[in-house]
Amino acid sequence: MTDRAHQRCTNPACKASYSIDEVRTSCAKCHALLDIIYDWDRLPVPKSMEFFEHRWSTKGAGGSGRLDFSGVWRFRELMPFYRHEDQIVTIGEGRTVLQQADLLARQMNMNPGRLFLQYEGLNPSGSFKDNGMTAAFTHARIVGAHRVACASTGNTSASLAMYAGLNEMTGVVFIGTGKISFGKLSQALDYGALTLQISGDFDACLRRVKEIADDPKMGIYLMNSVNPFRLEGQKSIMFRILEARDWNPPDWVIVPGGNLGNCSAFGKAFMELKELGLIEKVPRLAVINASGANTLNELFTRQNLRWNGGEVDCTKIGGLYAAMDESNYYPHTVASAIEISRPVNLPKALRALDYMNGVVREVTDDEILEHRALVARYGFGCEPASAASVAGLRKLQEEGIIDRDEEVVCILTGHELKDPNATVMYHTGVDMKSVQDMAPRSTPTGKIANRPIQVDDDLASIVKAMGGSV
Ligand SMILES: *Cc1c(COP(=O)(O)O)cnc(C)c1O
Ligand SMILES: [Zn+2]
Repeated sequence: MTDRAHQRCTNPACKASYSIDEVRTSCAKCHALLDIIYDWDRLPVPKSMEFFEHRWSTKGAGGSGRLDFSGVWRFRELMPFYRHEDQIVTIGEGRTVLQQADLLARQMNMNPGRLFLQYEGLNPSGSFKDNGMTAAFTHARIVGAHRVACASTGNTSASLAMYAGLNEMTGVVFIGTGKISFGKLSQALDYGALTLQISGDFDACLRRVKEIADDPKMGIYLMNSVNPFRLEGQKSIMFRILEARDWNPPDWVIVPGGNLGNCSAFGKAFMELKELGLIEKVPRLAVINASGANTLNELFTRQNLRWNGGEVDCTKIGGLYAAMDESNYYPHTVASAIEISRPVNLPKALRALDYMNGVVREVTDDEILEHRALVARYGFGCEPASAASVAGLRKLQEEGIIDRDEEVVCILTGHELKDPNATVMYHTGVDMKSVQDMAPRSTPTGKIANRPIQVDDDLASIVKAMGGSV
């Protein structure tokens, strides 16, 4: 049987293709990232986006009702990599809504009815990551995986731990020491994931978890956003924005950029909708870095790095990374969810920026914190990284790139309660010392306590902490 979906190398000069049943995070031939590609001619593609409206009345009913209830899977015809609907892993994620934010708009010098917030903090684990995790777990189930792992700045591990708990899989999360916020760490522990605190930052964790996932003996399925299936689920954030706007694209979508999976997924969503004739206009994209983790802005805005039809100038990337190594640079920002200096989805993000006529900017921690507080003042609590989108809007307006009458959607990527320390610190100046520093010296009080394990940034120690190979 020939499949109607496959994995394909994103490098146009290579285009190697792999079956859906393969577990890969890069091309075997050229190491580029992979995409999920659909043979739309052989799939039941809706004739218009209105098709999806009939699911509003069947949500929660028997049969496919559980899928119609999910804000991801009610759009399943646009991500049909599975073969049977009963393979789909869902708990009703993605039931988030686009909020018209007129009070905030006034503070931002936008005209009423022009500023919208896509509030992804409403997801079951409190961040947009659930949109992708439901798709990646669906693929993990298709290939029969039992152990899943990720490196994380916090929200990926919270989401992974939740879905692993729901599916009786073993979740392993790698987090950088002292880098994860209180709320996110508590979720990983509570949902029962094996939580390894590596002495290093996110980029070090990601290198290690990839090394371990590459060893077939370890039997680990990798859940980071190099996993192309995750990005399929994250496309649905754009579908819901269209749905809330009667299928009319806005002028701008603004999103914080960390590992750049989300903006990459947005680009792919619009490429496919356009190819299928389901929309006409493509919104412009703005990706916002924190100044303390500004790799994309440095390369895209200052060094003019472009997708260039797939021929990305890797010497610019290599040069920047070498300079970082040389000066012993580590990213640092209060927006811990985007504290990443080597974004793995960089080429895909360049493709999205190219397709959506995008721009990139960076904002300081102060700008992030002030805009986070402003968003909260009008009732939409979000964590610091999320507010980079609103701070970025301010910047683009001041530069005259976004007009006060344009329709703008800012993605609020994570819930305010993810990082209560940042909030309390802002309002009181008191820093509640993070739990990580206390953990090794303390004694758990619970009967099913799940302590984090401190591990050196060293392969043998990590494998040992994971209980050896399988
Ligand atoms: C993961 C995350 C981001 C960054 O998304 P990328 O896809 O890695 O660019 C931004 N905000 C929050 C709250 C996140 O959890
Ligand atoms: Zn390739």
